[in-house]
Amino acid sequence: MAERAMRTVRDLRRSNRSLLLRRLYFGGPLSRQDLIDTTSLSAASVSNVVGGLIEDGLVVEAGAVESEGGRPRILLRVDGEAWHAIGVDVGETRVLVELFTLDLSVLARAQFPLPDGCGDVGSVVRHIHDGLGAVIAESGVRTESIIGVGVGVPGVVEHSVSEHGVGQHGVLDQGTAENGVVYGQSIGWDGVPLERLLRQGTDLLLFVDNGATTLGQAEMWFGAGRGARDAVIALIGSGVGACVVTDGAPYRGTGRSAGEWGHTTVQVEGEICRCGSRGCLEAYVGAEGVLAGYRSLSAARGGSADSLSGLSEEAALGRLLEAADTGEAAAAEILERTALFLGAGIANLINLFNPERIILGGWAGLALGSRLLPTVREIAGRYALRHAYARSEIVLGRLGPDAVARGAATLPVARFLATAGPPARAAGAVLLERPDPVADFG
Ligand SMILES: [Zn+2]
Repeated sequence: MAERAMRTVRDLRRSNRSLLLRRLYFGGPLSRQDLIDTTSLSAASVSNVVGGLIEDGLVVEAGAVESEGGRPRILLRVDGEAWHAIGVDVGETRVLVELFTLDLSVLARAQFPLPDGCGDVGSVVRHIHDGLGAVIAESGVRTESIIGVGVGVPGVVEHSVSEHGVGQHGVLDQGTAENGVVYGQSIGWDGVPLERLLRQGTDLLLFVDNGATTLGQAEMWFGAGRGARDAVIALIGSGVGACVVTDGAPYRGTGRSAGEWGHTTVQVEGEICRCGSRGCLEAYVGAEGVLAGYRSLSAARGGSADSLSGLSEEAALGRLLEAADTGEAAAAEILERTALFLGAGIANLINLFNPERIILGGWAGLALGSRLLPTVREIAGRYALRHAYARSEIVLGRLGPDAVARGAATLPVARFLATAGPPARAAGAVLLERPDPVADFG
């Protein structure tokens, strides 16, 4: 009984610390009075908890404001510069590693092209290890200040946890768990134990998740998703994914693979998709599908898309957009087709999830969207049910094309906020409770 009571007190203290830390992280700087006014905590609790957070180096004073009573109020904020997080974007054309302050300003960056794609797991792992070393050296931060490494990958990420491995207080015996196993059907990753492979080269805390989900989290925290409770973040790069946020939390499904919007069928028996099926949305609006469509249309017209050969996908898509601007018929036609399928695909999202906001992101999503957004909106309006369409808006992501790495860095930050403390070294134990990344960040 006594032990249970102790645990309850400890849990309560931790949840109060986490509550105030999140308030300050997302809404700071705030005064102690602001924290009292916007939480259910008493003045004594706020004072006590804030004192602890300051003592542990998580929160600092940030000046003062005049108050009505005359006595100035001290403002508080999370110490964004004292702690660091690393985000990794495993893309299909490159591995990007970035080191951030706690408020996710980038301090150092290392990039490794993948000329043959990301199919070779060994080189991806090697690049990530090299990247971690490079960004830590470039930024000069102490490794003790790094709260963890988030890795965003193209594919479904499974975290299987053996029940027998769960010890006291939700602490997990590492030997019995296999976390961060990646299934990426389009890239040939079938059960790649990425977290275990990465563990062999670093003792920093690791978090592996789907790239679209991490991008969605970054947009919800800092970008176009702020303030929305029901949103879909559509990520278009080479391939296509989505993060569905319902009532503030990502919808994951039974095997964590929900949101594979790119592999919903938009054309029965249509173009072959990289997943092996036919007629998937990705085959029509993913950069690879758009460029393939352009090449075959050019060839059918007796022309060629030779000017694209040897270019990266990013450069080739840029060239295609320029060609359409100069009035080249095949380029204009393929963009029309892209807008049509994208609009219809978005209408499906609106009808299925009734989101208040759909955020178009990813490097290709931003490039295509900056030109096609008005048409895409109009087509989505044509295909969606009127009631749902009228209550939704379709906007571009605000965080730029590199938001996957930043999004990945939100994974350790979310844990930092949820546990309200610096990380235990991974060599010891891993926390079982994976904090719900988007939920309750208001
Ligand atoms: Zn597919």
